[in-house]
Order: sequence, then structure tokens, then C-alpha cells
Amino acid sequence: MSCPLNKLIRYLRLFSLPLSLLLLLLSPPVLAQPIQVVASMQPLALMLRSVAVEGVEVQVLLDAGQSPHDFNLKMSDRRKLAAADLVVWVGPEMEPYLAKLVTDGNALALESMQESVPQPTGHTAAHQHHDHGDDKHLWLDPRRGAAMLVALGDALAQLLPERAAELRIRAAATSQAVKALLERPPSGAATRRYAVAHDAYSQFVEAFGFPAPVVIADSPELAPGVRTLMQAGARLQPGDCLLVDLNHRRKWVQKFASDHQLELIEVDIMGVDQQVTNYVDLLSGLLTVFEHCR
Ligand SMILES: [Zn+2]
Repeated sequence: MSCPLNKLIRYLRLFSLPLSLLLLLLSPPVLAQPIQVVASMQPLALMLRSVAVEGVEVQVLLDAGQSPHDFNLKMSDRRKLAAADLVVWVGPEMEPYLAKLVTDGNALALESMQESVPQPTGHTAAHQHHDHGDDKHLWLDPRRGAAMLVALGDALAQLLPERAAELRIRAAATSQAVKALLERPPSGAATRRYAVAHDAYSQFVEAFGFPAPVVIADSPELAPGVRTLMQAGARLQPGDCLLVDLNHRRKWVQKFASDHQLELIEVDIMGVDQQVTNYVDLLSGLLTVFEHCR
């Protein structure tokens, strides 16, 4: 004869196995859920991908080739932002459309990074803390990029503590690779001038010690007036370079280049090219163009 307690135990055993299995199947895989990170644009996603490990999912708001200067958020973008564990953006100056949707608690802005990296050789100390004007293309500043990489490592380490050491090591290594680019000695004095169809390079040229460009337009989308074009043309020689954003070779750009016999070069400042897989590649690609146009 079995006592009532034994009956109860047997009864529970009958159900406990299927029940626990059922619970296992129904419960969400909490630990396997990847960390969701949203980058506002591809250059920041490139920084993230150099640091991120398995378990971190990186999404980009701005499609490849889209300009951050005339961007409208879609409903799906808002959903991505709302679901993100971390939002990585340039900041309110460059991306005012994100300012109201980003909260300080889970966001990291490139604008808030300090240029903690020493200036390249040949730069005077006086250059170190001066006003950059209103060029907000901060991802082209390797000094700020190097600081951002370290900050990204810290932010991801907080979200994924079990991989913290690895994340910080990856961040430090990439940051170091960016700083190493700054130590590349310039290859002799410039022999020609160059013009730009996008006023985006002021911090890049300052960081690497290149001469300032002849700026023709704020962005290739905005065709400058005849007077501006004439004045710029007068400062250039046949054989000089004209840099334009990759896939933004507008008609006026093409015409100006042929009128003045300039070498027209497309520059991938947004990391659109499939072959550019990390931030160091992005900067190296730009360096190659600038060295070529010296
Ligand atoms: Zn721009």
C-alpha cells in the first residue's frame, strides 16, 4: 500500500518532466539574445565592427550612399532606436533629426569625444586646442575616432560584462592602429593643389598635416554659383585634383573638372565601398587619395 504522499510524488513526477521540457521550450533564450547596437551612419558602424564580438548586433540607420545632410527618419528607424541597447551617433550638430530620439543613458556621441591623441610631427603646440569651425564631419578626424573606439569598447563591455576584457583589448588595438596612421611621415612637399566638392575634410587635413583644399561647395548636392566656380577655378592649375564623394559625381562637378582639366577622384568618406570593412580602411583609403594628390 502506498501512502498518499508517495502517490502525490508519483503524480508530480508524471507531469514534472514534460512540464519542465515545455517551460524550457517556451521560455525566451534570455542569455543568447544579442546586444542591439544602432549606428547612425556607416563610418560609426565600421568603428563598432572593429570592436564588437559575437553577441553584439550592429545596425545602421543611414543607407549606403544616403547623405546625412538630408535624412528623414522612417518608422522602422524609430523602432530600431527604441529597441537599441546602445545608440552610436555623431551628435546633435550633425544629426539634429536624432537629437530628440537619443537619450544620454544609452547613447555615445562622437561629438563628445576629446582629441586625446598627440598631433602628428610638424604640428606646433599652438594647433592643439583651436576652433574647428563648423565642419561636423567628425568621423574623418582620426584623433576623435581613436578616442571613440576606446569609448565604444567601454560601453560594449558594460553591456556584455562576460566579454569585457576581449572587447577592451579589441578597442585598444584598433585605436592604436588609427594612431599609427597619424605617425606615417608625409611623402615630401606638395607639388599640386586640390579642390573639394564637399567641405568635409578640415579636421582630416589638419590631423594629417595636409594643405587646406580649395573648397568649391558645402556638399556636392548644392551646385555653387558662377562666381564661386570662377574664383575656385582661378586658384587651380590643369592637372590638380578635384575630390567628390563616391557616387555623388554631379553634372556640375564633372563640368568643372573638365573645364579646368582637373583629375576627378571619387572619395569614399562614408565607407560605402563593400571592400571597406573597418574604420582603419576608411581612413587609409582617404590617405591614399590625399597622398596621390600632393
Ligand atoms: Zn557633409
